[in-house]
Amino acid sequence: MARLAEAYPGTAKELCALDYETPFQLVVATILSAQTTDVQVNLVTPALFAAYPDAPALAGANLADIEELIHSTGFFRAKSKSIVAMAAALVDRFGGEVPTAIGDLTTLPGVGRKTANVIRSVAFDLPGLPVDTHVLRLSRRLGLTEQTDPVRVERDLAALWPRRDWSDTSMRLIYHGRQVCTARAPRCAECIFAGWCPSARVRPPAARPAAR
Ligand code: SF4
Repeated sequence: MARLAEAYPGTAKELCALDYETPFQLVVATILSAQTTDVQVNLVTPALFAAYPDAPALAGANLADIEELIHSTGFFRAKSKSIVAMAAALVDRFGGEVPTAIGDLTTLPGVGRKTANVIRSVAFDLPGLPVDTHVLRLSRRLGLTEQTDPVRVERDLAALWPRRDWSDTSMRLIYHGRQVCTARAPRCAECIFAGWCPSARVRPPAARPAAR
């Protein structure tokens, strides 16, 4: 954790690359971020949020209009349905406001456990431990878990890390997975964990036996 904090300073909120102004907008942006980049999402959300700034506005939207606005994020039909249904559920069941409990968040269309944990940690500064593809891959490579199911990985990490560190540490792992420990070509020689990571492919110079 100390190495991650040094390499990726800032809180989960500060490290989040999605542009948003309210918890509602973060839910929308996080749903749109599936299978695309945060940069791509940030290109479409200004117009989307200008036209539909809150849950009541989006709940009454025409699906075809939303599809046109978010088309470039991919899977635009499914995502349009999800964000409009999510907004309607907020209006129907939560007074138009985003709930904070993970059990409530995961009842919203398009919001799984990973998204719910992002919302908790980034929008509300509450403990949240999102296990995305990067957190899952790094946790296994680092030997923090042997599980492959994200919910079980989350449980293992939650048992290892102090609750106050869940949000920042998981967000930093996401950055490390994007920038260094990538899926296909991890750059072990320059990794902050290379000295003891059980999956390191290259031993750092300090760990090599001394030449005779
Ligand atoms: S040493 Fe290699 S496998 Fe281990 S965390 Fe770093 S980049 Fe990933």
